Amino acid sequence: MQRILREHFGFQDFRENQEEIITNILQKKDVFAVMPTGGGKSLCYQLPSKLLKGTVVVISPLIALMKDQVDAAIENGFSAAYLNSSLPVEEVFAIYRKIHAHSLDLLYIAPERLAMPHFFETLKTVPIAMFAVDEAHCISEWGHDFRPDYLSLSSIAGNFRDIPIAAFTATATAQVQEDIIRKLSLRDPFVVRASFNRKNLFYRVEKKIDVEKQVHRFIMDHPGAAGIVYRATRDSVDVLATYLSKHGIRALPYHAGLSTEERTRNQNAFSKDEADIIVATIAFGMGIDKSNVRFVIHADLPKHIEGYYQETGRAGRDGEPSECVLYYTPGDAYKIRFFINQIEDETERSTVEAKLVRMCRYAAVNVCRRRQLLEYLGETLKSDNCGTCDVCVGAYDQRDITTEAQIAMSAISRTGQRFGRLYIIDIVMGKATKRVIEFQHDKIKTFGTGSHKGKDYWLAIIDELLVQELLIQDGDRYPVLKLTKKGSAVLFGGESVSANMRPEIKAEVVRKVSRTEAGSQFEDYDPVLFDMLRTVRRRLADDQGVAPFMVFSDKTLHEMCRRYPTTAEKLGDITGVGQYKLERYGDDFITEIKAYLENNPAIGQHLRR
Ligand code: ADP
Ligand code: ZN
Repeated sequence: MQRILREHFGFQDFRENQEEIITNILQKKDVFAVMPTGGGKSLCYQLPSKLLKGTVVVISPLIALMKDQVDAAIENGFSAAYLNSSLPVEEVFAIYRKIHAHSLDLLYIAPERLAMPHFFETLKTVPIAMFAVDEAHCISEWGHDFRPDYLSLSSIAGNFRDIPIAAFTATATAQVQEDIIRKLSLRDPFVVRASFNRKNLFYRVEKKIDVEKQVHRFIMDHPGAAGIVYRATRDSVDVLATYLSKHGIRALPYHAGLSTEERTRNQNAFSKDEADIIVATIAFGMGIDKSNVRFVIHADLPKHIEGYYQETGRAGRDGEPSECVLYYTPGDAYKIRFFINQIEDETERSTVEAKLVRMCRYAAVNVCRRRQLLEYLGETLKSDNCGTCDVCVGAYDQRDITTEAQIAMSAISRTGQRFGRLYIIDIVMGKATKRVIEFQHDKIKTFGTGSHKGKDYWLAIIDELLVQELLIQDGDRYPVLKLTKKGSAVLFGGESVSANMRPEIKAEVVRKVSRTEAGSQFEDYDPVLFDMLRTVRRRLADDQGVAPFMVFSDKTLHEMCRRYPTTAEKLGDITGVGQYKLERYGDDFITEIKAYLENNPAIGQHLRR
């Protein structure tokens, strides 16, 4: 096992649970494993293919990903192929010949293939090492993307009695687990439930003020890095993608309103590092395997924490530090609520509403973000300070805002709780608009008491009061502000309020924090060399017709940019450089690194010291 891990994958150590899973498979036991995205599931079924007799049959619903998975396996020295409805018939025949010749380590198929009697019979006549069921929650009606096709997998256990089945999913609920085990008839399986704590992800929430500008600034702080920006609607996707492109950023849109060709084209461009940013609705993600996504931004509020966790999970699969940012304003919750209110079924409506409330709380309260996410997934974070979220690194700067809160709430109360934010701010700031005069609100006591501060400041205060649920937005057509019980307690009952009115966190701080706090593996690397090696990687990937991250991950390049390997032996010691990739790509990288060191003798001297 260790030898194959090193030679084929170029890794020195197994990740959590991988070794146990593989050992059980080798002992022909069934396995059920829940592991988060990026947990390293694929290695668990790829590695045994070199140790067991016969082919590993991998069943996956993600047809769009199969080619990528097969390409990546071939890059690592596996003989691999896939069968699905997209292939021309000659290719299908060629693969059947390979199956009969027992020459495949890995065969990827879509579930409907297994439902074809002819194919099923073929499998019975050739040696099979194991069945790996990827995205196994698809067989469960409780899973979020149930596929009827998956039900055909129920017949594997009965027909292949001595062959182990390993089921993998990133969906954690106990109900789904039970359902999968039962539907696949797993035989006394070895069960693994990995932690869902993604230690390399930095979580933070920012106040959403002018989100296009905020996203733009964030991206400018992360030059050349790949990122996904999620938006709630197709229109807002188009607007943001256009805005970013106009500012010279390589950004592309992705949503269900685009043609299939355009979606595929944009996704491929992103996968191949030809575009840095994908701006997308949540339609984007299922078919993305890219390991070097350095950040996931939510420019609009997600509807629930499951979704948020899953979408942010697409960052940092390679284990390198990555960021997850949510731009939050209570106004977004108001918009979502508008749709929730149209749900007729009362039970469903209250379930959806409760999920939204949890999502808002995640963004609003000053409690470790990681703790909140994990708690939602049924896991308790052990340490008090996770070290890699905005709350834990102390980005919060609490200030007493009782006076400001009283001014705003008094204006709301004295005008009868019938007006929206902008009108209230006019009163607070003492603006005698036509409307204000009409209602004689220039006569109330609060008029002008907040004129020493600007409009943005008061907008931020009202947002904060909404976040802390001292105010709610109510009303069918226009949102009007009303006091809650908590709000009344501050206005009339002498309670105080504090808030975090901090400036945005600088990218630099996050980078430094995630490197020092999250452990020594996140050391710095040489950014100039990284850019050069990235270019080499792009060129090699283009030549091979694969995505750059399949040649080497960011993690691997980062390590090269710390250790400057100039011999094949040293390069082979780097995580992710297996024997096959060393032979194929080693020289190109060594040449580049050598040239770089020659041009920068100071670095060379430093290394020799
Ligand atoms: P999942 O399918 O669970 O989302 P993958 O199988 O795609 O995860 O693996 C995620 C990333 O982790 C890949 O880039 C993979 O190369 C890397 N990886 C997997 N196992 C290891 C390991 N033992 N050491 C280092 N990196 C690993
Ligand atoms: Zn934290």
